[in-house]
Amino acid sequence: MRTALTVAGSDSIGGAGIQADIKAMSVVGVHATSVITAVTAQNTQGVDGIFPLPEEFIKTQLEAVLRDCDVKAVKTGMLYSAEIVSTVADILEDHDMPLIVDPVMISGTGCALHDDTLVKAMKRELLPLCELVTPNKYEAEVLAGMEIKNYDDVTLACELIGKEGSSVLLKGGHFDSATVTDYLYLSSEIVKLENPRLKKSGHGSGCTLSSFITANMAKGYDIVNAVLKSRDLIQESIATQYAIGKGDVVVNPMVKLKGDTDRTKVIDELDSAVSRLMDIIPDEIVPKKGMNIAMALKDAAGPEEIAAVDKRLTVHNGMLRKGGQCKFGTAEQLSYVLLSVMKRFPETRCIMSLAYNDETMDVMEEVGFTVVSVEMPKDRVTESVDKAIGKRKTAPDAIVDKASKKERVIRLLAENPSEMLEKIEQIL
Ligand code: PLP
Repeated sequence: MRTALTVAGSDSIGGAGIQADIKAMSVVGVHATSVITAVTAQNTQGVDGIFPLPEEFIKTQLEAVLRDCDVKAVKTGMLYSAEIVSTVADILEDHDMPLIVDPVMISGTGCALHDDTLVKAMKRELLPLCELVTPNKYEAEVLAGMEIKNYDDVTLACELIGKEGSSVLLKGGHFDSATVTDYLYLSSEIVKLENPRLKKSGHGSGCTLSSFITANMAKGYDIVNAVLKSRDLIQESIATQYAIGKGDVVVNPMVKLKGDTDRTKVIDELDSAVSRLMDIIPDEIVPKKGMNIAMALKDAAGPEEIAAVDKRLTVHNGMLRKGGQCKFGTAEQLSYVLLSVMKRFPETRCIMSLAYNDETMDVMEEVGFTVVSVEMPKDRVTESVDKAIGKRKTAPDAIVDKASKKERVIRLLAENPSEMLEKIEQIL
């Protein structure tokens, strides 16, 4: 699974900080590692105390994580002081992954989460390293050193904050407007992202949004797409925020947990497709090494998020048999083909292997299937498929590799197992 990192403070009430970050990253389907900078004692009504951790120990945590994992993207949240900023910047400077800075300054309940040294250090040491900084109106005013009252001020503030080359997402929640407009500054242009104004966003909205963005970037999305996807998620998080105490409500990062329910659904759909296939598939379209059908979770990031029949379907004494149960992470080769297709066509989440034969190819042509032929060496599956479908406007119905005739396999593509069954029935 892809890994992201949050470097942030602990929030004892669990609405913001590290606790929100881990939930938000998990929802996007990324493993969250965490380095704690400060421990806060707080609840929905206020902050009772802040205990910044010794810089040496923040360094030890960071080094432990970065030495071990291939972290794909990192965010910073509450950093509290210049000393902590320097400690974190010194280490991140030597690592080449996107850095998203959420310039946390004040808690939702109005308490300062930093000392007097933070802002200067953040501007000097962290902003030059980051790809994206995500201030709200107040934080942008502090970072830019100016008041923001109109669109010209927004532009100037973004230019000042992003002057070292980073993009800026200036969040519009605190502006006095009927809708919420966030401004995404990408050095040469500003993209306006307008959303309906829901209720006042609860505790943890900033942390949750920046974590959604970081996790999406860890999955390989560029800034614009990571922000767009995350903006949709935070909208739902605010729409479903809830009360846990006597003060502020907390946002709900768990909006789309790609957990058991989605996994169970995928396995259930595959199971029923497999039983139907076992009734209808003739031996001659089963490849010698066995056939398989695989289905991916939405936005799957790796083979572990794709389910298939364990040890394939093979023919024994004239009967099609299952090697094992449907499970996740069992069909690597097929999964890599599907993952490449999904990068371009995310709705195409089902793939099935068939033996190559000329009759099947003829029938596919007769029924109007689009077939792409690909030179697909085993060690360059992803590259080959990317190249073959890169410029297509619609997903092909099948990909055929150009291996020797004996080893050649047809890989049928569909959005889900039911559509796959329809396609199979068309060509039988
Ligand atoms: N980090 C910590 C540890 C916090 O306690 C808070 C707010 O209280 C924040 C960050 C910022 O929260 P928000 O996402 O509401 O801006």
